Amino acid sequence: MDATILLVEDEPAILELLAINVTQSGYRAIRAHDAAAALGHISRALPDLILLDWMLPDVSGVELARRLRADPRTRDIPIIMLTARADERDKVLGLESGADDYITKPFSPRELKARIRAVLRRRAPQASDETVSAGGLELSPAMHRISANGAVVDLGPTEFRLLHFFMTHGERVYSRSQLLNHVWGDHVFVEERTVDVHIRRLRQALEPSGHDGLIQTVRGSGYRFSCS
Ligand code: CA
Repeated sequence: MDATILLVEDEPAILELLAINVTQSGYRAIRAHDAAAALGHISRALPDLILLDWMLPDVSGVELARRLRADPRTRDIPIIMLTARADERDKVLGLESGADDYITKPFSPRELKARIRAVLRRRAPQASDETVSAGGLELSPAMHRISANGAVVDLGPTEFRLLHFFMTHGERVYSRSQLLNHVWGDHVFVEERTVDVHIRRLRQALEPSGHDGLIQTVRGSGYRFSCS
């Protein structure tokens, strides 16, 4: 699954440069030229990460980051702040406003890519393209392939995303509504019982290799991926 990155930058040339770099790295780029446009995009669908310019024409990047951190729906979106100011105090202010990392303009494409990858790996591992393995399962998002003890497992797209989420968030219980938010996306109006249908399909696909037991039902709470 390609991660979606929201780019918030008022200078058209820099916005385009960011979009080119992000797209080349295999992410989906969404462009916003000010805070209002960014909030419009966010209200429709949550991005996996935001690259946020400090100086915007309407609301500053710092202020926008604070607002996003104050709202439970947007609190967990990773944010990388972009700024022309190299001042140490500004860096501290940016990080205190809730940014996860900080890039000073002009930036090198290599640094930009490395920071995006590092923040995604830390904050949104299910949006990363890295291969994950657990309990004898190996899942490669880049190749869209899963193997169980080396044998290929066929999964539908939803079961694939569900297993990817579980494998990057092991040993924790998730309710049906949390799974809907993380795997199906928020603002998606599907019944919670849909989750049970896909869990059943996932277990069926994992049954031949004996890995179905990794997906545990926690009575009254939800589901957990556990190797113990
Ligand atoms: Ca700017």
